[in-house]
Amino acid sequence: MNKNNANFAPLTPVGFLRRAAETCPDKIAVIYGEQRYNYKQFYQRTCRLASALKKRGINRGDTVAVIASNIPAMLEAHYGVPMLGAVLNPLNIQLDSKTISFILQHGEAKVLITDCSLSPRIQQALAMIENPPLVIDIKDNNCKDGELLGELDYEALLAEGDEDCDFSEPQDEWQSACLLYTSGTTGNPKGVVYDHRGAYLNALGNMTSMGLNQNSIYLWSLPMFHCNGWTFTWAVTAACATHICLRKVDTAVIYQLIKKHTVTHMCGAPIVMNMLVNAADDIKTKFDHTVELATGGAAPSSTVINSMEKIGFRITHLYGMTESFGPSLVCSWKQEWSELDADERVGKMARQGIRYVTSEKVKIAHPDTLQEQPWDGHTVGELMLGGNTIMKGYLKNTQATDEAFRGGWLHTGDLGVRHPDGYIEIKDRSKDVIISGGENISSLEVEQALYKHPKILEAAVVAKPHDKWGESPCAFVTLKQGEVASSEDIINFCRDELAHFKIPRTVVFGPLEKTATGKIQKFLLRQQAKELE
Ligand code: ADP
Repeated sequence: MNKNNANFAPLTPVGFLRRAAETCPDKIAVIYGEQRYNYKQFYQRTCRLASALKKRGINRGDTVAVIASNIPAMLEAHYGVPMLGAVLNPLNIQLDSKTISFILQHGEAKVLITDCSLSPRIQQALAMIENPPLVIDIKDNNCKDGELLGELDYEALLAEGDEDCDFSEPQDEWQSACLLYTSGTTGNPKGVVYDHRGAYLNALGNMTSMGLNQNSIYLWSLPMFHCNGWTFTWAVTAACATHICLRKVDTAVIYQLIKKHTVTHMCGAPIVMNMLVNAADDIKTKFDHTVELATGGAAPSSTVINSMEKIGFRITHLYGMTESFGPSLVCSWKQEWSELDADERVGKMARQGIRYVTSEKVKIAHPDTLQEQPWDGHTVGELMLGGNTIMKGYLKNTQATDEAFRGGWLHTGDLGVRHPDGYIEIKDRSKDVIISGGENISSLEVEQALYKHPKILEAAVVAKPHDKWGESPCAFVTLKQGEVASSEDIINFCRDELAHFKIPRTVVFGPLEKTATGKIQKFLLRQQAKELE
């Protein structure tokens, strides 16, 4: 028996769009302001993109970079580029020009599709490159005249292509589909390479975990440049659901869109939940339905989960990283939790959960011996993942790839425990753990305690060098608008919540610096803590 065209087809997320165009051509696929595309038009536009790029000499394996916020062109690139067998390289819109130029060169981009609202930075980046890529501008109401950098604009490029295309890519499902650079807090970012098969599977994992179906309305509050929007760029299409594009995460606009379009699903880092919960009452447009919100990228506090539930959101907690196509674990809801009191229930939900249906292997293990730790909720180990939704490797970096895959597992660098019910709970990142007098302190546990303080909006805890104890916890907090509190208030509050040795010895007030994806930049805080006194 052999594999043949009747019994085998390479898995690719592009197939989801072909199916949607075939089976629900008139269904609204994309909404952006007043703009609407149905699935037939969406597919035709991606065909035009693929064939226009082909006419311009782009072939299988070539890199096409895109830097844009969550606008329709960004979504179209998620189909048009891999359809051609080329590799999509979405860039974080908040990167500085030097990093952008590094990525374009390292990834050998042949084309850069760029949102004209970013022109000044992109211009600087391009000036640093000896052989710059072909530049295509996406024009929008956000552009003023004279800011176009490239040879032509995106719509003119589409006009060069054919809407009836018939590409037979990928030829192999292991072919590269995307290239994503991780933020890299020190040194140059690493280029994570995804294959078509993994992208297909992870998207289906999302669809199952979040219950997406053809009635779903998905609001793009999570950046598409981050792990392809955690692969929801493909999951929403797989479900024949509707994408609502959103240029900027603006709390008032999000509330209005939820109401106007009866949004059923959205994703966001815990910071997005914080923004929604703490928004002023006059911008919180009321809605009567429940919105399923998937959160991840950092641990949400039980407090914020609780507050979100009260205003109409149902939270699902996901865990993942760029190397795992975004989400790999989901805190799947268990019926018996509904009988628990609110604190206990949200405590269960704040755990990172069990593996996705499409994710093959997960364990909490000793980082050196790789021996699995007991499922006792206490013994800490490193979270390791494996299976078909793990990156191919880092581009041009065999050493880092081998290191990440040591012993046949992806080493996440996250430390956690496994509870007797099989649910995983992350305690910290290995480099974020605080070791005080030989005892490990989970920075997440201290942060969870701080979030219970009614005046605290945001909190992050890092190690501060300490003469006697080696390290001590140092808390950085932002208070809610108009609130006042002293270090003593905060420290006293923690006395009721935490064991003595875990109580922060220092409290610093002020805004917390974050990455484009809402992660608090702990390495900056660690430096700051070191320099205190
Ligand atoms: P980086 O932040 O290093 O650029 P990613 O954006 O890929 O990388 O983030 C992955 C990391 O985010 C994980 O290794 C983990 O530390 C953290 N993370 C993701 N989801 C969660 C979660 N639900 N709870 C706690 N931490 C999380």
